Amino acid sequence: MKKTELQKQIRDIPDFPKPGIIFKDITPLLDDKEAFKKAIDLLAKKFKKEQIDHIVAVEARGFILGGALAYKMKTGFVPVRKKGKLPYKTARVEYQLEYGTDTLEMHEDAVKPGSRVLVVDDVLATGGTVKAVTDLLKRQQAQIVGIVFLIELKFLKGKEKLKDFPVYSVIKY
Ligand code: AMP
Repeated sequence: MKKTELQKQIRDIPDFPKPGIIFKDITPLLDDKEAFKKAIDLLAKKFKKEQIDHIVAVEARGFILGGALAYKMKTGFVPVRKKGKLPYKTARVEYQLEYGTDTLEMHEDAVKPGSRVLVVDDVLATGGTVKAVTDLLKRQQAQIVGIVFLIELKFLKGKEKLKDFPVYSVIKY
């Protein structure tokens, strides 16, 4: 399957979740066995020569890609969740939203100092969410080997927020 065919499985939903946003719906891609496999293979390819200890991903769509990617790359998986969801002691980061703030958490013992991690998410939009994840990981003294996205919305310039790290996106708009 070619990348162009993969792109056909991403559905644009205008005005979701609010007016003016074109939501990139990846559920048709996830639903298609060849497209899902191809997406994971492409996400795994960029950093396949690197030694990676953990894939780190944010709920909820990040978990779908992150779990499969960890299996493919033979790494562990570390979930980053919204406030109050993780049961053990957590490290947390507060980050800015368009209106107000939000908090992300990970278990404080999930990543050991010096661990080599690869961060994954479905869509790079403004980059605020993944930037917060990198701040959290840096505080835990993890080594961020790279960040991979299935989709990058280039016009939002999210990559500028992540310029300290190697970033790779499979599909760009
Ligand atoms: P960001 O603005 O980069 O912090 O994006 C926050 C989260 O919202 C990401 O994890 C994306 O999954 C999601 N997201 C943002 N914009 C879109 C979009 N146009 N379509 C689908 N998901 C989006």
